Amino acid sequence: MQQSEPIVGAIEAGGTKFVCAVGSGPGERMLARAQFSTTGEPKALLAEVVDWLIGQQARFGPLAALGVASFGPIDLDERSPTYGFITTTPKPGWRNTDIVGPLRRAFPGIAVGFDTDVNGAALGEGRWGAARGLDDFVYITVGTGIGGGGVARGRLLHGLVHPEMGHIPMPVLEGDAFAGGCAIHGRCWEGLCSGPSIAKRAGKPAEELAPDDPAWDLATRYMGHALATLTYVLSPKRIIVGGSVRKAGRLGEAAFFDRTRRHLRAALNGYIASPALEEPGLSQFVVPPALGDDAGVCGAIALAHDALAASAAGSR
Ligand code: ZN
Repeated sequence: MQQSEPIVGAIEAGGTKFVCAVGSGPGERMLARAQFSTTGEPKALLAEVVDWLIGQQARFGPLAALGVASFGPIDLDERSPTYGFITTTPKPGWRNTDIVGPLRRAFPGIAVGFDTDVNGAALGEGRWGAARGLDDFVYITVGTGIGGGGVARGRLLHGLVHPEMGHIPMPVLEGDAFAGGCAIHGRCWEGLCSGPSIAKRAGKPAEELAPDDPAWDLATRYMGHALATLTYVLSPKRIIVGGSVRKAGRLGEAAFFDRTRRHLRAALNGYIASPALEEPGLSQFVVPPALGDDAGVCGAIALAHDALAASAAGSR
């Protein structure tokens, strides 16, 4: 059945690069992929992406739909004149950039799914990865920034705009004088645990830090606090942590997760009674993405499939 899933175009629009793919799912079902740097001008980049997708249509046939999982903040209100735009990003040159419009013009009449990069990754992990079979879970990316996508009762969380989990306020741990790295809030989660924030605190990139560097201890303690907040607020059945920081350089991914889980348990302090929050369950409660670094682009494929299904349902 899965082999007959329609072939779609997918764009994971990240802050440093756009990862594009054509296919129907992960692994062998991804027929082609390409990567484009975001250092240039947005319009030129989008034109390059469109050209690449048109080239793939010549190889694989017409694309059934497009999916875009984008860095944000983005406008997801379909009644808004700036629907499909990246809005108030601090990324130079990218404020108020129309992402969906150029795609609609280049591929008239086909469904375009659009959501945040992390909502996309959550969808991808739910369909093919570490959250298969779960209706309530969270996907977090901890990299250049921090963001989270949530699924509740099988549906992506949206609302006023979309969740911005990376900017939740954080406690000050004893003896920590670091002012934080977020341009907007200073010491929010992103301001304490993103790659650039860890580097700013430590004076060198996270991947160069020794395994016993106190910066890792602080970062994983703050991770524990943030995941406790998400656990209290959203009551997820699993939290998937993707992004580059989780690989944790010389500390290693396994140790990063061990410490984060231990600090999560300490922060919860036994308040929520669930075997998922005690070992061995805890090891399955906080996990890396099963799709690895492809979670985002697979999520964009899933967004395209959902947009196609929604448009088919609408025209029925
Ligand atoms: Zn912030």
